[in-house]
Amino acid sequence: ATDFGIEKALKELGVKDINEGSSTGSNNFSNGEVIESYSPVDGKLIGKVKTTTKEDYEKVMQTATSAFKTWKMMPAPQRGEIVRQFGEKLREKKEALGKLVSYEMGKSYQEGLGEVQEMIDICDFAVGLSRQLHGLTMHSERPGHRMYEQYHPLGVVGIISAFNFPVAVWSWNTALAWVCGDVCVWKPSEKAPLCGIACQNIAAEVFKANNLPEGISCLITGDYRVGEMMTKDARMSLISATGSTRMGKIVAQEIAARLGRSLLELGGNNAIIVTPNADIKMTIIGAVFGAVGTAGQRCTSTRRLIIHESIYDKVKEGLITAYKQLRIGNPLDENNHVGPLIDKDAVRMYQEALEKVVEEGGKIIVEGGVLSGEGYESGCYVKPAIAEAQPEYEIVQHETFAPVLYLLKYSGDVHSAIEIQNGVMQGLSSAIMTSNLREAEAFLSVQGSDCGISNVNIGTSGAEIGGAFGGEKDTGGGRQSGSDAWKVYMRRQTNTINYTADLPLAQGIKFDL
Ligand code: NAD
Repeated sequence: ATDFGIEKALKELGVKDINEGSSTGSNNFSNGEVIESYSPVDGKLIGKVKTTTKEDYEKVMQTATSAFKTWKMMPAPQRGEIVRQFGEKLREKKEALGKLVSYEMGKSYQEGLGEVQEMIDICDFAVGLSRQLHGLTMHSERPGHRMYEQYHPLGVVGIISAFNFPVAVWSWNTALAWVCGDVCVWKPSEKAPLCGIACQNIAAEVFKANNLPEGISCLITGDYRVGEMMTKDARMSLISATGSTRMGKIVAQEIAARLGRSLLELGGNNAIIVTPNADIKMTIIGAVFGAVGTAGQRCTSTRRLIIHESIYDKVKEGLITAYKQLRIGNPLDENNHVGPLIDKDAVRMYQEALEKVVEEGGKIIVEGGVLSGEGYESGCYVKPAIAEAQPEYEIVQHETFAPVLYLLKYSGDVHSAIEIQNGVMQGLSSAIMTSNLREAEAFLSVQGSDCGISNVNIGTSGAEIGGAFGGEKDTGGGRQSGSDAWKVYMRRQTNTINYTADLPLAQGIKFDL
């Protein structure tokens, strides 16, 4: 049996023998209990990581706050140069890191590579951005005055990330935060800690080669208890947290209680509207990839298909045929379409969702089930399932983080479909399949989708780093990645300069002394 080059990749990334979490690469500050990382691919132990204790955390924060003093003084384009080198290192390590992502998280090797490519892309984006961190100039109402705004580095940025994008989400935050002059403390998911260590090793190499102080990139490891140290800590200028809505609600309250700044990227319940004017072939491809890609474990995975009654049966038949062709198995094997879920808890939640939809009156049209036997030893492989349901079912209103797709039927015009699409608490990604201009524009208009991401003739999943990424309502409202998402990593200052010998007051107020 082949190991698909895993051993080699682990060695190359320096996570083969390191069984201890490292804070800043060369220094090791983690002395807590041990987490074991098992692969959902074959159920084998990949490595062990020591978690961060309270005392370790203090040391990390001291290193980070001290590094900030140096880093913020470096001109932004020079910080961009460091990020450029980091992107180059990622290009060198792309195959190895892509493999580790695939093996530790369970997504396909292609998707693992895609995740590393996103890291590279955001580095390129951040390099350009490092010369464009500009504010506006405004015309002052007072004579002889100049008014403008500028952006300064914020401080220590805490990053809490989810298991499903174990490396990309960190880079989306960190590449921008670094060029903005911030230092970062990252707590990766306890379900993918080795991905965290591998990334930290790569970053540490770059900072070291440039004689920069430790602490610009910090890693802490552990579960929510380590996350809580961050959210309660007033020294954290910003906490960017990606994960479930349940987590976001707790984290948001902690941070708000100390008037801290947060950026939340939480769960989705993404739908594709399929109108009578849809290209059925494109719809099937988009829907199947959206629903079963990454075994339904993307925040942007397609969970609901809202199909017009006139084409409902045709779409349904197309999906059933496509699902029959899906190959489930080892994600490192390129012949497979669907890999495992992250762990057995996720499998249980998948099973519960299927039971629940039937209980509520839904009808399963593509049977699910847990796979066993050769190749499925980890117990984490499940069959992608499809159920016919009603929009208001409780289970349909929730995000099930697994390959379960709900078919919902609509009649009437596109506005009835939009109402169903918007009728959930989450607001991340949405799409419409139509070649009708009126339908497409209505969907994108103020009366249309209420999501942070709305697509026409593309599915819900996946996004380019150039746009701002995030969603509304229970998805948390934060934006990461492209466009002007960088602004949240900086503090804005408005400056007014009087270059005369008089002191005229604003709004013409007189204050004679
Ligand atoms: P999760 O909420 O269980 O955990 C996410 C992270 O939060 C982990 O690092 C965890 O240790 C930490 N955490 C949990 N409770 C915490 C607390 N009280 N204080 C501080 N930290 C805490 O999520 P998961 O299962 O790893 O990931 C799946 C979820 O993430 C899905 O809901 C998915 O939609 C969402 N997600 C959203 C986006 C997005 O950009 N909107 C991207 C990826 C994943």
